[in-house]
Amino acid sequence: MRQLTYGGVPIPGLNDLVRTAIRLHPAPGEPRHDESHFGGPLLWPSDEPWPECPVTWPPDPDASDDAWAGGHPLDGPVPVMVSAAQFFRDDFPELPFPEGTDVLQILFCPMQHNSPHHQGPAVRLVWRDSGEVEDIADPPPAPEEADVDLLPAPCVFEPCSIDELPRLCDFPPETRAALGIPEDAHDDPEGWPELDQYSKIGGWTPWYTTDRHELGCRECGAELRQTIALATEEDEVGCGCDVAEAQPAGWSFARQDVLHIFTCPTDVTHPFKVRID
Ligand SMILES: [Zn+2]
Ligand SMILES: [Zn+2]
Ligand SMILES: [Zn+2]
Repeated sequence: MRQLTYGGVPIPGLNDLVRTAIRLHPAPGEPRHDESHFGGPLLWPSDEPWPECPVTWPPDPDASDDAWAGGHPLDGPVPVMVSAAQFFRDDFPELPFPEGTDVLQILFCPMQHNSPHHQGPAVRLVWRDSGEVEDIADPPPAPEEADVDLLPAPCVFEPCSIDELPRLCDFPPETRAALGIPEDAHDDPEGWPELDQYSKIGGWTPWYTTDRHELGCRECGAELRQTIALATEEDEVGCGCDVAEAQPAGWSFARQDVLHIFTCPTDVTHPFKVRID
């Protein structure tokens, strides 16, 4: 890639900030359990219990590090979760997979939970080795009290890739210094490229409605990294591809926002965080 410039001046280190995101381009479809998808059937073994909401008391140590509180009574039956997404390593080698696994499954508890940062579904990430799954489980019906805005509709993907630059709040200190940006500045540099919203793997976080804070790993202290974005709306922005359906996955987070999943770069099985932005 050519040396990136700012105000016509080449800025050393700026190229290192570019992240290539895989835009998913979800479209309504009928995915199988052995395919990557939003909201389709999961490759889930019949001899493994179907996952329940991680927002429990006492808290589930395997759940995300989001201090989720409430959303449904904590002393009643724990709601079952619904399939939100499935990604095979063969389709998306850009995703981190723990040793010995080749599929990532994302499940929602389809109700509004309160976290210190936003309201939204509770989330679980499950990695597994697809070769070990023999009989496939029939998913239980979604909880009766489920919020229809959080029930994913089946989608298949037509991915493309987009190079993204971060917003100012994600700049490393040396880049801020090279660009001469004051410590207390909050606005992106003039003429800085727009960071659009869409479902994707990798890339940067737009931080349009949420402040960037508390993204340290609870386990090791490393700064968590933007890993997966599940967007409410898909628009014809950023890449020039056609978008047939504006809300293909049927879900709607907060104010038509994007649910971002952040994982630890040291070890992806460390507690993840969710931010709806
Ligand atoms: Zn829940
Ligand atoms: Zn960590
Ligand atoms: Zn595209």
